[in-house]
Amino acid sequence: MALLLLVEDDARIRTALMRALTERGHAVASESTGMGGLRHAVDEPPDLVVLDLGLPDLDGTSMLRMLRSVSRVPVIVATARDDDRAVVASLDAGADDYVIKPFSAEQLDARIRAVLRRSSAPEGASAQLVVGELVVDQRTRTAVLGGAELDLRPREFDLLAYLAARPGEVVSKRTLLADVWQSPYGGADKTVDVHLSWLRRKLGETAAEPRLLHTVRGVGVKLVEPT
Ligand code: CA
Repeated sequence: MALLLLVEDDARIRTALMRALTERGHAVASESTGMGGLRHAVDEPPDLVVLDLGLPDLDGTSMLRMLRSVSRVPVIVATARDDDRAVVASLDAGADDYVIKPFSAEQLDARIRAVLRRSSAPEGASAQLVVGELVVDQRTRTAVLGGAELDLRPREFDLLAYLAARPGEVVSKRTLLADVWQSPYGGADKTVDVHLSWLRRKLGETAAEPRLLHTVRGVGVKLVEPT
């Protein structure tokens, strides 16, 4: 069970989702505007926010940026169309996952549980992963390369930690989508590509001259100790 905040301006969708998520054992509060949602998330911090991107007063992505400047609460965005740009922009703004409307309450609930599992993972997880000069600490969610801490977004860290836990193993983009993004139905290969290229830049390397992060054409990627 989690305390959820649903930010959705469509009263019909809001009522239906509140009922469905309550039936699944969550406590659900709701707001119909971006500013209302922002205020609510700060005043009564929920465990997770479900955020509609199309709000009357404030673009959902802007609201998310404002929220991220004050809170690390997990956020799942709901977007009306299969709009790659909106999805990438919201992931970039700090969303943990997304659903495309129309979605079922079952799917949303599964994503809520997956995101909450991830955000509460550390306890017990083996703390340090070492690949060459890279040290990934899952407990503190920090990554250090050659003594310097990398400035990673949450999803970039998850991606790096996933690969660092499997040094030398080639992992397909589909597997990354399923395990890191909890998105087994694919569709957003581009999301993985974009994050891999960000990660590469932060590791100080390029696809053409890789050191740690190698692309295996047509198969996937792997993280290896540089020789
Ligand atoms: Ca809307």
